[in-house]
Amino acid sequence: MKTEYYLSLLKESQEEIRVMADDKRKETYANVITFSRNVFVPVTHQCRNRCAYCGFVSDDPGSWIAIENYRKLLDQAKNLFCSEVLITLGEKPEEKYPSARHFLEKQGFDSTVDYVNHLCEIALNKKLLPHSNLGVLSYEELAKLKDSNVSLGLMLESSSSRLMEKGEAHYYSPGKDPSLRISTIENAGKLKIPFTTGILIGIGETWEERAESLIVLAQINEKYNHIQEIIIQNFNPQLNTPMSNFLPPTDDDILLTVALARVLFPPEVSIQIPPNLNKDRIYDVIFHGVNDFGGISPLTIDYINPNMDWQQEKDLQKELHTRDYILRERLPVYPKYEKYLSTIIREIIEEHYKNERTFTP
Ligand code: SF4
Repeated sequence: MKTEYYLSLLKESQEEIRVMADDKRKETYANVITFSRNVFVPVTHQCRNRCAYCGFVSDDPGSWIAIENYRKLLDQAKNLFCSEVLITLGEKPEEKYPSARHFLEKQGFDSTVDYVNHLCEIALNKKLLPHSNLGVLSYEELAKLKDSNVSLGLMLESSSSRLMEKGEAHYYSPGKDPSLRISTIENAGKLKIPFTTGILIGIGETWEERAESLIVLAQINEKYNHIQEIIIQNFNPQLNTPMSNFLPPTDDDILLTVALARVLFPPEVSIQIPPNLNKDRIYDVIFHGVNDFGGISPLTIDYINPNMDWQQEKDLQKELHTRDYILRERLPVYPKYEKYLSTIIREIIEEHYKNERTFTP
């Protein structure tokens, strides 16, 4: 794949790439836009990294979720017909914080991975489907989580190691070394773990680096065929962060990146944007190739972007309906990957299919 070719398309033939992307979306998804109804569980805000745009990270030892509160949250999620438990947390907190090690020890766990694994098993016992994002993971850690998750996630964010340099967004974030993230995504491929990844745009990367990041992901997927969705996440400035005064990416940045992703990836890989970060351009992102809105929660906020409320499902439905699009719920694993999951998880998935709501076939 030639970065120069795609860059020239973006520079010289923007309408052409938009039409290519929209046609490709229509061929596979017609007028259907999918989402997953979830409960968002921030396990801890402690993290070994310090990304310059992050408003999620905190030193607070009290930010760990207690198992009792977690169980209550899952019960509420069940009552609201959520299927996905989106587990998100800072990366390897025990590497940096004695308080994290103390919390884990007190709970009887050797590592954050073991604690999250336990939380996922609790979710499965309640017939809910966990999808976890723990940051960079080893092959062995991924293998452990495979049995308790329907899918796992890790944003590549960017393949550019330049963003690790002094003054750049990832300077204080060892876990954002692209080689570590690529290795995690590849190991997930080797283990046949259905995977969600993507890029974060507007954090100081050039157009060339943005295109290269997508090309790297497309090449990994060509090899392992395990990437079920690509998120194009737009940087959204957060208060009290070093990048709070940075401008967010422009409409063109977002839309053309979406179109590029749609053109680069096979049609069955969903192109996803978070709808709460794109409220004013919902149709535009669809016309540029988006077919999925990711997780939307009727219960919890977007802890990564707490300044951006989720749209209510019925409001999104209404908005899409005015242009003849349909909002349809899906599960946090795509049907073609179910064969890689454990029998227990497949049985729970079957039960979700049997309920009255409609899922993507
Ligand atoms: S963005 Fe993720 S990895 Fe970076 S500091 Fe925040 S929680 Fe940690």
